[in-house]
Amino acid sequence: MTVQSFGFFLGFLVFQSFGQHGRELITSELALRLLSSLSEEKSIPNVDLSSLNNILEKIVLKVVPMENLNGRKRVEAGDLCERRNGRGVDLNRNWSVDWGKKEKDYDPHEENPGTAPFSEPETQIMRKLSKSFDPHIWVTVHSGMEALFMPYDHKNTTPDGLATHVMKSMLNDVNRLHCKDRCLVGSGGGSVGYLAHGTATDYMYDVMKVPMAFTFEIYGDKEASMKDCFRMFNPVDRTTFNRVVNDWSAAFFTIFKMGPHWMDLVHFNSSKLESIDEYLEGYLIERSSRYGKRMEVLDLGMQEIRTYFRLFLLSSVLLMFMFCSRISKSKYATIRPIVSAVSL
Ligand SMILES: [Zn+2]
Repeated sequence: MTVQSFGFFLGFLVFQSFGQHGRELITSELALRLLSSLSEEKSIPNVDLSSLNNILEKIVLKVVPMENLNGRKRVEAGDLCERRNGRGVDLNRNWSVDWGKKEKDYDPHEENPGTAPFSEPETQIMRKLSKSFDPHIWVTVHSGMEALFMPYDHKNTTPDGLATHVMKSMLNDVNRLHCKDRCLVGSGGGSVGYLAHGTATDYMYDVMKVPMAFTFEIYGDKEASMKDCFRMFNPVDRTTFNRVVNDWSAAFFTIFKMGPHWMDLVHFNSSKLESIDEYLEGYLIERSSRYGKRMEVLDLGMQEIRTYFRLFLLSSVLLMFMFCSRISKSKYATIRPIVSAVSL
C-alpha cells in the first residue's frame, strides 16, 4: 500500500450497496454469496481463494446487503413490480445531485424522488455511512440489464480527466473478465437511454468525491414480459442463479485485488491520505462514541497528544539551537575562543 511522508494509508476502502430497489432480489443474493465467500463458507468457481487473506489485509469493505428492507417486504408480499421503498419513494432518485428533475416519461410509480433530497431514512443512513467511511470505490448493485455504469446518470457525459480514463478501463476489464463483453459500459445517462436525476452514484462522485463510483447491473431478461417483473429482474432457474452470483462475486474479487492498483493510477492517494492528527481524531471519535463519551475522550485525547507534540517540538528546537551554537563556536574557535560553555 502506498505510504506518503505526511500521513498513513489506511487501506483500500470499498463501499457496496445491494437491494436498493425492492424487486431486484438477486442483488441481495449476490451480497450474501459474496459475504459467504469472504468468510470461506463457499467457494467461487475459477477463483483461487488462497490469496484471500492477502487481499483482505489491504482492503476494508463496507457492505449493505439490503438497502431497501421495506420495499423488499412489499415484493415478498406479492407486489413483484415494486422498486420503491415502503413510503413509495425511489431511493435512487432521492439524493441531492440534480434532484427532482423529471423526464417526459416520468412515472411516479417508478421514480418518485420524494418530497426533498434525503427525505427518506434509507438515503439518510447511506449518506451517513458514506461520510464516515469515505470510500475509494462505491458500487451500487442493481438488476434489469447487464451493464457497468460510471457517472453521470443525470447527463449524457462522463466526467473529465484521468479518473474517468481509469474508471473506464477498469470497467472494460471487469466486462471482459466477468461479463464476457456482454455488459454495456459507460456513463449511466449516456448508455441506458434515459437520464436519472438524484441518484446515489452521482452523489458519491460529485459530492462525496469518491474517486470511483459505479452502478452495476448484474442481470436482466430481455425476453421476459413487461408484466412479469420477477422474471425481468431475477433469474428463475438454479443454473442461471448460480451463474449470476458466482460471476459477479468473482468480479468483485477482481475489484478487491486490482483496486489499489487502479487507485494508484488515479493519483488520488494524497486526497485520501490522512494526516496523523486527522487519523487520531477519527480514531478517538470512533473509540469514544463506542463508549458514549465522545467529546470527553476526544478532548482529553487530543489535548494530551497536542501537549506531547508541542513538548517534542520545543525540545527539538532547543537541541537544534545547542547544536548550531556549538558548530558556530568551534568554527571560529581559533579567532574567538570559547570563554564559557553555554548551559541550556
Ligand atoms: Zn435498480
